[in-house]
Parts: sequence; C-alpha cells; structure tokens
Amino acid sequence: MTYVKGLKCRECEREYPKEAIYTCEFCFGSLEVVYDYDAVKQNLTKEIILSRPKNHWRYRELLPIDGEPKSGFDTGYTPLVEARNLAKRLGVSELYIKDDSVNHPTLSFKDRVVSVAVSKAIEFGFDTVACASTGNLANSVAAQAALANLNSFIFIPANLELTKVTGTLVYAPHVIAVEGNYDQVNRLCVEIASSYDWAFVNINIRPYYGEGSKTFGHEIAEQLGWRAPQHIIVPVAGGSLITKIWKGLKEFEKIGLIGKVDTKIYAAQPAGCNPVVAAIKENSDWVKPVEPNTIAKSLAIGNPADGYYAFNVVKESGGWAEDVTDEEIIEGIKLLAETQGIFTETAGGVTVAVAKKLIEQGRIPRDESIVISITGNGLKTQEALSGKISAPITIPPNFVVFKEVLN
Ligand SMILES: *Cc1c(COP(=O)(O)O)cnc(C)c1O
Ligand SMILES: [Zn+2]
Repeated sequence: MTYVKGLKCRECEREYPKEAIYTCEFCFGSLEVVYDYDAVKQNLTKEIILSRPKNHWRYRELLPIDGEPKSGFDTGYTPLVEARNLAKRLGVSELYIKDDSVNHPTLSFKDRVVSVAVSKAIEFGFDTVACASTGNLANSVAAQAALANLNSFIFIPANLELTKVTGTLVYAPHVIAVEGNYDQVNRLCVEIASSYDWAFVNINIRPYYGEGSKTFGHEIAEQLGWRAPQHIIVPVAGGSLITKIWKGLKEFEKIGLIGKVDTKIYAAQPAGCNPVVAAIKENSDWVKPVEPNTIAKSLAIGNPADGYYAFNVVKESGGWAEDVTDEEIIEGIKLLAETQGIFTETAGGVTVAVAKKLIEQGRIPRDESIVISITGNGLKTQEALSGKISAPITIPPNFVVFKEVLN
C-alpha cells in the first residue's frame, strides 16, 4: 500500500511519476514527493502510531516507499530530553534536546534519510548506492548498504575527520577521497550520477532521501504529547533537514494529529560557512555560495542544494538565524556535555551556541517551549576538542600520592 501520488516540481508544480529523478525538465526546479493526505488521514491515527515499534517507520504512511521498509529498521525514535540543567543555565523555562546523537545505526540524523533512500533504491532495483558526503552520510550509507547487501561508493572531501573516515571504511565500501571541498565533491558526483546506474542517495534519490528527515519533526510533536513546540533551532548544511522538519509538522497538522502549527524555525550555521544565515539577515532569497572554513565539517556546504527552501521556511515560520565562531562551537559542545551529559559533535555545538545567542538577543522568549536539534555524536569529532579540554591528572599507582594530589 502506498500513499505517494508522485513527484511534483517545487517551482512550476509540473507532476512527474515516482522514478529516480530529481529535477524538473522544464524549469530545473527540484522535485518533491506528493502524498494523498486524505487517505493518510484515514489510515494513520495516534492509536495506530502508538501501537507500532519505536522506530521512525511508525509514520510510514508519510514516507515514500511502496512496500515494506528495507533498511533502518531500528532508526529514529531517539530521546526528546527535557533539558532542565541547560534550561537553568540559559535562563529559559521549557527546553528540550531532540537527541539524534544516539540514532541507530551510525549515531547521526543521517540514518533517517539513508533508511528511506536505501529502501527506495532497493524498490527501484538498484544494486549500488552512492553518496557525496560531509562525513555522517558516508557512515550511514556504508553501514546500511552493508546490511542490505548492496555495493556502495562513498565520495568524501579528503580532509575529513579521521574518525568519520574510519567509521566509513570499517563497513568495506568503496571510499573515494576527493582533493577538494564538499561542493567540488558534489559537482563531481552529479557528473558520475549521470553516467552510472547508481542510486546516489542525495542526488538522483534526493526527493525520497529528504523525506526521511520529516520524522525528526514528527517525533518531536509526538514526544511532546502531540503538539508542536514554539521554537526549534536546526543546524543547516544542504538545507534539507530544516525544510523537512517544517514539512513534517505541517503534515501532522494537515492530518489532524496536532493542532495549528505555530512554530518558529531558526537556522544555525558556523560563521565559517553561513550562506543561509547571511541570506536571512540580508533578507535576500538568493543564497550566495561561500568557501567553507570551519571546524563544523558536517555543516561545511558552501552552496546548499536546498538553501533557498531553507530561507523560505525560516521566513514563513517567522523564525530567524544566527552563526557562531569555532570558539563558540567548542563552548557549545562543552555546555551541553557539562549540563546534560550529552556529547555532541561540532554541528551540535553550533546548534547549542546559536540557541544561547538567540535567547540572549531576546529573539527567543525565555518563557516559551524550545527544542534544540542535536544531530550528531561527539565521539566522531574528537579532534575538534584537542587542546580545548583539560588533561587527566596522571599519578603512579600510589595512595599517598593520590591524597597529595587531591589536596
Ligand atoms: C548533514 C548534517 C546536518 C545538516 O543536514 P542538511 O539536511 O544537509 O541541512 C546537520 N547535522 C549533522 C550532524 C549532519 O551530518
Ligand atoms: Zn518545474
């Protein structure tokens, strides 16, 4: 059973069949999955959702597959933590962390999008999956391809964090490290995708891939007791996650699972790669590409594919945007760890630091409900903390010495 009607151009609204295509032949706009929401409304009730296993396929009527899920069986339904210590520190009354640093199987929100993309690639009959990645996508595609017995080709910038490279190679995919930044890797992959019959999860499968991000928004609403929060801060790289959280909340409203969505969405980027934030501050829907230079490598996309749509979501929702320096990112990582016991990667440091800034600026009121999106795990970007946290106190195995040190 499927509720997918087909694909539709986000610009000229021309309709397309559900195939492995991603741009409009007429206007080059990107394609979006369209559902029969009346049918979904009949078949996706709170009772049905609550009766299902705690993974993101519990919202499967809103995901673009025709048959059974083929990947990501334990992905999603990550904790929504009520962050009391951090709330106190930031001086706000109702604060939550949506914690995808513990997503299954590779500890980032990318497991959601890859789960859907790999399922769809198998439905389309592909035997090879591929991606252009800033790190977390590489980990997830390699892992999920291994479980699904697919070949995989992973393209990464050659300067990626060692942990993310190792966390990809261990699954034995074909890894190609390209001497260039992500935008150059992506351009190469667009060329490769047009010559090889591969499912590039974030190129020719992108319309389906992006839908996986909606479940991040669905879960926030469900876990808050079927309501949307007043504010959500979201890290932005290619701009897919932020647009799909919005789509996810809006479709929950449409099918009657929550009331009217009155959520303001905020874009968070590193100062060293802030094209979407700059566009929002300048109030110009032309997202001007930048040359990335930041420790937040998972957000280092200078020419975001969905930048224009990310801009629109922030504007439509009445939110705002901020960027933070590398030092502030480190402070953000430490703040979350010290207050909530959650170790996030550099992208999470960006989100926390941006949330702090927006609260201090008065952009986000202190007495309203706020969700900070934590999208990746700190064990993957440990290099960023080198020299920034204190060293252990080293002693010989001797009780007297220990007592001296303690004094
Ligand atoms: C990819 C990624 C993002 C941003 O995702 P987009 O959908 O490309 O904007 C955020 N956080 C982490 C940890 C990521 O890996
Ligand atoms: Zn079009």
